[in-house]
Amino acid sequence: MNITQIRNATILLEIGEHRILVDPMLSPPSSLAGFRLFRGERRKNPFTALPNNADELFKTATEVLITHEHPDHLDKPGVEWIKSRGLKLWCSSIDAPNLRRKGLDARIITQDSGDLSVEVIPATHGHGMIGWLMGPVAGYYLAHPDEPTVYITGDTVLTNTVKSAIERLRPQVIVAPAGTANFGIGKDLMFSEAELIELAKLAPAKVVFNHLEAIDHCLMSRSKLRQMVNDASVAEQVLIPEDGERLQFELSTDSPQVTLQTSEQTTPGFQKWLTAKFAGT
Ligand SMILES: [Zn+2]
Repeated sequence: MNITQIRNATILLEIGEHRILVDPMLSPPSSLAGFRLFRGERRKNPFTALPNNADELFKTATEVLITHEHPDHLDKPGVEWIKSRGLKLWCSSIDAPNLRRKGLDARIITQDSGDLSVEVIPATHGHGMIGWLMGPVAGYYLAHPDEPTVYITGDTVLTNTVKSAIERLRPQVIVAPAGTANFGIGKDLMFSEAELIELAKLAPAKVVFNHLEAIDHCLMSRSKLRQMVNDASVAEQVLIPEDGERLQFELSTDSPQVTLQTSEQTTPGFQKWLTAKFAGT
């Protein structure tokens, strides 16, 4: 299995025969509005360009997977690109109806989507009212018989749901957002600094941190994160790829056999409308 970090939460996941483009935000620099609402600098997003090898990687994609519809995960150029390639788009039942309205071939991912075993793990994008307003997000555990297992957490804080999923599924690779996003008010919208360290300690093998240095409300830098994981003695588990960097993972021999569970997904109402307004996609 290979994971290539492209930018922010956008990765190319090569697993079995699949080349899955996850959360494509393809906008050129400074073409999206700032996300930070209070305190600190609000600036246009994204503030980094796609890496030089992005086009080459995009050409190889066989399908797309999205965790949620926020514009730093699926933007207008992302939607247009998926349509132009006629690729199927895997998503949770929460996002499928709206994505179909956009003319996308959105398919709800189930436990047996082809030769991948999948479990959708609910993610919680913040605390209290802000977390509720951010709307539901899907995390995904993906297993292929010949590959390491991977858990893409999606934008989430460290909930008991996330912790128990790690404990039960023992994913060999966890991909998690490390930007500690904050609108400038209230608690973080994703793993806090302390939660990132706790997550690294909980990881059965490796954790890949991304969602860094691309969006104005994510203040964590790669260098600060490296320092933090060194100080907490968890550097061995942690990978912090640069944009364009490809990570390779081998199947471990003690990979556990697990039974997947289906969890209830909340039905979004007002939040989905709000997200659509905010995203403008
Ligand atoms: Zn995000």
